[in-house]
Amino acid sequence: MSALLAIYKIPTYILDMPKTLKKPIQTVRGMRDMLPVDMPMFELIENEIRKAARDYSYGRLITPILEEYALFKRTAGEASDLVSKEMYTFEDRGGDKVVIRPELTAPAARAYVEHGLVNLPQPVKIWYLEPMLRYDRPQAGRYRQFFQGGFESFGDASPVLDAEMCIIGIRILQSLKIPVKVHINSLGDNESRTAYKKVLVAYLKQFVKKLPEDDQRRFTENPLRVLDSKEKVTKEIIADAPKITDYLSENAKEHFLKLIDYLEDLDIPYVLNPLLVRGLDYYTGTVFEFIPDSAEFITSEGKKREIPGGLLSLGGGGRYDKLIEEVGGKPTPAIGMALGIERIMNQIRERGLASVPTYKPQIFLGHIGDDARKKMMNLFDMLRSQGARVAQAFSKEGIKAQLEVAHRLGVRYSVILGQKEIVDKTILIRDMESGIQETIDFKKAVSEIMKRLSKINENLL
Ligand code: AMP
Repeated sequence: MSALLAIYKIPTYILDMPKTLKKPIQTVRGMRDMLPVDMPMFELIENEIRKAARDYSYGRLITPILEEYALFKRTAGEASDLVSKEMYTFEDRGGDKVVIRPELTAPAARAYVEHGLVNLPQPVKIWYLEPMLRYDRPQAGRYRQFFQGGFESFGDASPVLDAEMCIIGIRILQSLKIPVKVHINSLGDNESRTAYKKVLVAYLKQFVKKLPEDDQRRFTENPLRVLDSKEKVTKEIIADAPKITDYLSENAKEHFLKLIDYLEDLDIPYVLNPLLVRGLDYYTGTVFEFIPDSAEFITSEGKKREIPGGLLSLGGGGRYDKLIEEVGGKPTPAIGMALGIERIMNQIRERGLASVPTYKPQIFLGHIGDDARKKMMNLFDMLRSQGARVAQAFSKEGIKAQLEVAHRLGVRYSVILGQKEIVDKTILIRDMESGIQETIDFKKAVSEIMKRLSKINENLL
């Protein structure tokens, strides 16, 4: 056998290969990998979020992936879709009931109370960018794991902060060139909601038999939630329902009007949507969602295209002045919002909108032979520490294959060290644009390379 392998020049490892390949293992349903090729776009969005956080003075918060079940049961409400249907809840090995977080507002509120952040100057402003898990029905724009970039502000009831949340979201989405408006509503204070609930219940009572089973359940558990229904029959019924904005108390009305005034003043594109309630129990007062203007767009070739799931909200939030009490703190006003990163990526990708910057190295290090490789590995280290944008293909032997990598990367300079250069204690610098090659003293390699790179930067400026 081995003689045959030798005759036909077949490598011996072929003998060790399994006869059949094992069944490939795939991502869990509703979960997606994000590959290196997706990262420039992910990071573009991440950078906009970071920039907004920096400019508006939000500090980053990272909380554990697991939380106690009670945290979400108390805050989002047991009857909410989130708690009743969508949470990854399980008993850990010690028998504790835990949840993989479906959102980060409740954990942020827990952290605010647990770490006594109430003692800091208020408002305490935090931001996050983390994956969430929800057992949602997978479809376009709806995944079981997705990233949220969010902002929360604790300890200040001013409507300026309601406006700030809307402004931050709109400005981030506008900087990514997504045509979008913020849809706003007010759920009022307790007084407003009690008055509104009465008239809403009286209205819905006439149609209760027509409502789908799920919405009948909502009607008995929390009638406001019926307004959030995605069912066609229910949507038709609620279109004519009384509007909460007609039942706002004087205080609630004043707060909401101030928000509108700020949005008008800053030219923030907004829509009044009195049916917007959002799905969680903890919202009080202002609620809002960032909704794209249209799921359709015209391509550069003049063709009409539709984005799957393109009208789903790109983010949302609201005021939650009772939440801190629910997690054991004293009454503290608060407001927050979260943007859905995958949905934003979908918009950018489909519409071909924002130009996504990619990292581009300026210089490539090539080697011929093992001695040269070691020297170049050292040089690479030195150039990196000086801040040069440098690339290499040290695992490749042939200089041709290495230079192919250099071409693909589009570097301005390739620096090559071969046997002859080692003997002469020199190094070759090739300008990839002009094709001009220069031989320089190896000792001066770092300073000569940095000099050339600084010239590129000057030209760029
Ligand atoms: P929510 O507070 O539930 O409205 O979530 C805020 C934002 O997170 C939404 O506007 C979406 O952009 C995003 N989001 C929520 N659920 C999902 C999901 N299942 N898949 C992808 N993104 C989601």
